[in-house]
Amino acid sequence: MGKVKTPKRAGASTLGPYERKAAKPAANSNIFRFDKDFGQHILKNPGISDAIVEKAYLKPTDVVLEVGPGTGNITVRALEKAKKVIAVELDPRMGAEVTKRVQGTPLAKKLEVILGDVIKMPELPPCDALISNTPYQISSPLIFKMLAMPNPPRVAVLMFQREFAKRLVAKPGDALYSRLSVNVNFWATCKHIMKVGKQNFKPPPKVESDVVRIEPLIGSARPNIAFEEFDGLLRIAFNRKNKTLRASFGPKEVLAMCERNYKVHCSLNKIPIDESIVENVAFDDNVDTMDVEIDVEGDDDAGNDNSEEQWRGLDNDDDDEDMPAFFKELGDEGKEAKTPSKHPKTKVALIVRAKVEKVLTTTDLADRRARMCDQNDFLKLLIAFHEEGIHFS
Ligand code: SAH
Repeated sequence: MGKVKTPKRAGASTLGPYERKAAKPAANSNIFRFDKDFGQHILKNPGISDAIVEKAYLKPTDVVLEVGPGTGNITVRALEKAKKVIAVELDPRMGAEVTKRVQGTPLAKKLEVILGDVIKMPELPPCDALISNTPYQISSPLIFKMLAMPNPPRVAVLMFQREFAKRLVAKPGDALYSRLSVNVNFWATCKHIMKVGKQNFKPPPKVESDVVRIEPLIGSARPNIAFEEFDGLLRIAFNRKNKTLRASFGPKEVLAMCERNYKVHCSLNKIPIDESIVENVAFDDNVDTMDVEIDVEGDDDAGNDNSEEQWRGLDNDDDDEDMPAFFKELGDEGKEAKTPSKHPKTKVALIVRAKVEKVLTTTDLADRRARMCDQNDFLKLLIAFHEEGIHFS
């Protein structure tokens, strides 16, 4: 990334500081060095800023959330069209810049700047539209945060690095098809709007970008299941997207999680749990097949997802994005281990194991691979798990 040159003072010598500011668009004022760790690539082509705002089809009644306003290139345009813009900015220097940019204009009273990391906010502020020239580090968590909102915005127009944008529109079988692709297309519709070359930014990033429009399903169109449930299942399935679903549900950590959540389900629904040890049961903790037959009783209720068990410590970074924390801890060893173990098993552990196998076989998905499954396959699987009292959040 090239360094931003310091402006030559000579050119500004006849102007006072405020005149100089007004004479130059903020995108070109090198008041400080842009910080690439904050994904600071300012849009220098006004046509692109116009297009981003235009494609949100804002109404004068809209509250817009902008993530990373920077010096305000997109912000000022959104302020002209909307009732209010809430701009969340991590860098206080940028927060000061965008505030200064509208100071003394009628737009100032419509702008609210929140300083901080948008990803660390417990939830996104309620809004009608989300716009962002998205800092690449937060692309994935920002989308997940928006999709998880019970009342998501009507529209999001977001600029991403091209590779990331391609993942959003990837279909089953595509190399870039991932947990992100399934989630986005399950909770929203997603459309590619335009390509944006790196020369449109200052400093130019290393890769090309794309603008996409995401329209989250709202109201009765939104699937009537908990976001964390669907996503919890996808995390397991896509941990090893090229393996069969039976293999993905085989590791003992996955079964242990299913068991924990099953026990929560049982206690919420007053179903007795049999924790007695089943003697002389030997089975492979990591095999791809499960051949335990157990009669399952008293669990006819599909239950709800009030589970107190949380998948703590999961991150949404682009790296290892689809990998639950406990898989990361296991490393390759855990994935490949094939040695049968003779640990004592409780009856409930065997029940859960049999339930998982039953779900995989009755849905006819045991031998399918996540990379080839579509959203209805995953939904079918989730419902079958719920019917067995197994939850994922
Ligand atoms: N919207 C401006 C600036 C885009 S650069 C334009 O298009 O010209 C990305 C901006 O996001 C920077 O101002 C950076 O400081 C900010 N940013 C980076 N990470 C952030 C985070 N986690 N939360 C909020 N803002 C963030």
